[in-house]
Amino acid sequence: MTERKPQEGRAHSNTKFYQSTAWHKLRKVKLEKAPLCEECLKKSIHTPAKVADHIVPINQGGAPLDIANLQSLCNTCHNKKSAKESHAR
Ligand SMILES: [Zn+2]
Repeated sequence: MTERKPQEGRAHSNTKFYQSTAWHKLRKVKLEKAPLCEECLKKSIHTPAKVADHIVPINQGGAPLDIANLQSLCNTCHNKKSAKESHAR
């Protein structure tokens, strides 16, 4: 009955990383530097960014704490990107 474990270890979850202080700091810096969604900006739309997203995902070898590997995204663009990535996997 108690065999249901949390989804840990599955697909090398990055949960720990996303809870780290270093990440929270970097994420904040990124969103302060680029407060608008970069995807929307390409279409000349100004949308406040809500997430700092890894351009190259960590589990695909992307640098986790390199600001150059981050882009600011709004929730809509982020969801679109995540949907694509999980599809490719
Ligand atoms: Zn956007």
